Amino acid sequence: MDAAELLKRQKEYFASGATKSVDFRIHQLKTLKELLKEHEQEFVDAVYQDFKKPELETYATELGVLHDEINLVLKKLNKWVMPRKKKQTLISFPSYNYTVAEPYGSVLIIAPWNYPIQLALMPLIGAIAAGNTAVIKPSELTPNTSAVLNRVLGKWFKPELVAVEEGEVEKANALLSQNFDYIFFTGSPRVGKIVMEAAAKHLTPFTLELGGKSPCIVDETADLEKAARRIAWGKGLNAGQTCVAPDYLLVHESVQDELLQGLKEAFQEFYGDDPFKSPDYARIVNKDHFERLCSYLKDGQIYYGGQFDESELYISPTILTDISEGAKIMEEEIFGPLLPVITFKEMDEVIRTVKSKPKPLSLYIFTKNSATEGRVIEECSFGSGAVNDVVIQLSNPHLPFGGVGQSGIGSYRGKHSFDTFSHTKSIMKKYFWLDIPFRYPPYKGKLKWI
Ligand code: NAD
Repeated sequence: MDAAELLKRQKEYFASGATKSVDFRIHQLKTLKELLKEHEQEFVDAVYQDFKKPELETYATELGVLHDEINLVLKKLNKWVMPRKKKQTLISFPSYNYTVAEPYGSVLIIAPWNYPIQLALMPLIGAIAAGNTAVIKPSELTPNTSAVLNRVLGKWFKPELVAVEEGEVEKANALLSQNFDYIFFTGSPRVGKIVMEAAAKHLTPFTLELGGKSPCIVDETADLEKAARRIAWGKGLNAGQTCVAPDYLLVHESVQDELLQGLKEAFQEFYGDDPFKSPDYARIVNKDHFERLCSYLKDGQIYYGGQFDESELYISPTILTDISEGAKIMEEEIFGPLLPVITFKEMDEVIRTVKSKPKPLSLYIFTKNSATEGRVIEECSFGSGAVNDVVIQLSNPHLPFGGVGQSGIGSYRGKHSFDTFSHTKSIMKKYFWLDIPFRYPPYKGKLKWI
C-alpha cells in the first residue's frame, strides 16, 4: 500500500478511538503472543536462512525476550494506564493535580537487521500497550525474516492497526516523509541523523536507538576465568553483531596474558577448534560487512582466530593485540566477532580513553574493587552497562534500554516503553468554591506579597 494511504487509514482508525481501551490493547498483545508461538519455527528458520543464527540464540535473544516483555505488560498495564496524582502548590490551592498517559497516534518503527524479530516487535509491544497504531519497516538485509514478519503480522492484524512495510532505503524514506505521530528508530548513528532530520520536518517526537563502541574494562582484581567466559560469550553471540557487544577490551597489563588465554580457551570450548563447523556460531550478514570486518584484521597482531571464508561470509572469533596507531578498528563500531585488546597501567588512562570517544551505548567493567566500579560508573557517560558481565543487562525489562549522545536519544523496555509511546498530559482541576482574587488586575499594592 502507498505510504500516504496506509497512514491515512491508520490515523482514521486511531481517531475512531478503537485502540484506546485497555481491553483492546490487552487483546492485541495476547494476539501477538499467540502468533509468536504459532509461527515460532518459521521465525527461527527465517533468521537461520538470513545469517545462520543458531536456533537457541533465536529463542533466547529474539522470541524469549518478547514473551517476557508481553507477560510483564499484560500484568502491569491496568496499573500503568491509571491517572497519577501529583502534589498541589500553595499558588494553585485548592486544586487536584494529575497526569494521564495518552497514545500519540500512529507510530513508525524502523528496525535494523541484527536482531530482526526482537527489534521490530519489542517497540511494537510498547506502541500497542500505549494505545497506538504502528507501521513497521524491517531491514532489507534480513529478507527472509522481513518476509515472515510481513506475512504473519499481515495475517493476524489488520493494517489499520499494525502493518509491515518491507523494502529498502526508498521505502524508509517514503515512510519518513509522512506525518507520523511518533518515530521509533533502531540502527546506525549515520541513519539516525537522517531520521532526526525527517522528524524535524513535521516536529514529530522520536526515539533513536543507535550504536557505538562499547568498551569492556578488566582490572587486575577481576575473576579472570569468569570474565573471559562472559566476554567470549558476549562477543561470540550473533557473531559479534550485537549493538551492546563488548566492542574493545581495556585490560590491566598485569593480567593481559591470563585473560587472553582464558578468552582463547572459552572460544575453543564454546565453538570447538574450528568454529566454522560449529552449529552455534552465526555468519556475517552480507558481503559489505564481511569485507569491512576483514579489513580490520590488519589493524593489529592476531592473537587468536583470524580465519575467514568469503563464500560462507564466515569470520572466526578473533582477538587482536598491538593495535596500530590510528587504526580504523578503534575508530568505527566493529559489529562483528573481532576483539581488539589494549592494555592499561592506571584507571585514569582508561577513563581518558573512554571519554575521548563518543558516549557509548554500553560499558562493562570487571572488577572486585568497589571504588573502581563506582568511579567508572560515575565518570563515564554511557547508555547502559553491567558490572562483571556483558550484554546481560538487556534481559531485564525493568531496566530502561537506550543510548546517550551519539549512541541514542530516549529509552524503552517495560514501563519505560509504555512511557516512551505515551504523551504525559498534565491536568490541574480547579473548584468553584474558592477564588482567591490576588492574581487578578489591578495589581497595585500586590507586589509586596510576592
Ligand atoms: P542501519 O542504520 O543501516 O539501518 C537501520 C534501518 O534504517 C533499516 O531498516 C534500513 O532500511 C533503514 N535505512 C538505511 N539507510 C537509510 C537511509 N538512508 N534513510 C532511511 N532509512 C535508512 O543499521 P543496521 O545496519 O541495520 O544496524 C546496525 C546498527 O544498528 C549498528 O550501529 C548497531 O549498533 C545499531 N543497533 C542499535 C541497537 C539499539 O538498540 N541501540 C540495536 C541494534 C542495532
